[in-house]
Amino acid sequence: LDPEEMRRLGYWVVDQVVAHVAGKGSGPAVRVGDPGDLRSTLGGPVPSEPGDVQAAMEALVDVALPHMQHGDHPRYFARVPGPSSFPAVLGEWLGTGHQAIATSWGGGSGPATVELVVCEWLASVLGLPESTEGVLLSGGSMANVTALVAVRAVLGEGVAYLSDQTHSSIARGLRLLGWSAEQISVVPTGEDLRLPVEELRRRMAADREAGRRPLVVIATAGTTNTGTVDPLEDLADLCAIEDVWLHVDGAYGGPAALCAPGRDELAGITRADSVVLDPHKWLFQPYDVGCLLVTRPGVLERAYTMNPEYLADVTAGTGEVDLRNRSLELSRRSRALKLWLTMRGYGTRALADAVERGIALAEHAEGLLRADPFWEVVTPAQLGVVTFAAVGATGEDHTRAAAALSDDGYAALTTTTLHGRSVLRLCTINPATTGADLEGTLTRLAAYL
Ligand code: PLP
Repeated sequence: LDPEEMRRLGYWVVDQVVAHVAGKGSGPAVRVGDPGDLRSTLGGPVPSEPGDVQAAMEALVDVALPHMQHGDHPRYFARVPGPSSFPAVLGEWLGTGHQAIATSWGGGSGPATVELVVCEWLASVLGLPESTEGVLLSGGSMANVTALVAVRAVLGEGVAYLSDQTHSSIARGLRLLGWSAEQISVVPTGEDLRLPVEELRRRMAADREAGRRPLVVIATAGTTNTGTVDPLEDLADLCAIEDVWLHVDGAYGGPAALCAPGRDELAGITRADSVVLDPHKWLFQPYDVGCLLVTRPGVLERAYTMNPEYLADVTAGTGEVDLRNRSLELSRRSRALKLWLTMRGYGTRALADAVERGIALAEHAEGLLRADPFWEVVTPAQLGVVTFAAVGATGEDHTRAAAALSDDGYAALTTTTLHGRSVLRLCTINPATTGADLEGTLTRLAAYL
């Protein structure tokens, strides 16, 4: 492709993306395709000859990209929405177009610096100590596993404590990392769906008695099911007494620390040994970017450092950082550019307003639900999540109604199960959502029940 052709194709892409961003909400919130239909355009034998790039891009825009959950749609309330922002898209494009790499200091000191700065900014937003060190990963799952690997590599074997509300990435990670069944202590939550501190204390004592070493408590700051925050201050006290590592999975709720109501909810997160947060959830980033922050300096490098002879030329000197030595990734793209541009472009005050709006929207939804005897609120609005049920409805009724709402394209929301009870769930972190969007969604949902 010559430069003129590159420009023509590139501007076409910009037009498509701007049209998408400007028109968010005009199409369905979720669209699932038929495998045969999708393959009739996108499949076929391996292309051996050059093709028409413009026509191929049109196939992507017309056929591939419409068929997905549109996490940036103002009425996408399912699972965890992904309300991206345009400066972040620009940052992503710049990095991709320049083949940015953030692996070693010698091979990418610019992108590495941007990543280190972004991690410092995130640590500062959370109120973590200045000595906190971080790394960006593909998302919360990888960031959680990266923390668990480091804890065990540096501190040795022991028991991990989590709750029945902890995200499944943790249980899967522990199992696949070789933690034995007796080293994985899943504590049942009570009605408040929080990690019960007294039961945790009792289990730690019993484990010590049985010759097992309590190693790490995994708390959640904003559970996926209900947005609940575990009692972080009490857990930090317990972990300090017991000399146990406190990991906080704030993949969903961590960014709430930007605004005052969120900071109140997250009190105690400042005392964690490690924290995960997912900018591709509530910090308005395109997929993918997760972040692991560790407040004990040197732990990541102690766990992950490898300096083979073929990387000697690009290995960091004093005061420099090789990001390859903070996780299992070697070749790694620069996930920081988009976040850096977003934070520079908007500033934390605008981002805080957007996050606070997400919290307020769930509270507004809770108000609508409480005002209508058709509904019962099951868990109140917490960090942008509210769960509820239709009075007298079965789990099947909920599932059918949620599916019908997705199928008609107006909105998407999720069902989940809390201690065996089926509930409907709204996650309202898209600042573009309006009160009318919430009202329309509940009215349509009720009609399907
Ligand atoms: N932890 C929590 C609390 C989550 O809500 C999620 C995703 O919803 C994850 C971890 C996993 O994050 P990711 O999907 O980015 O891997």
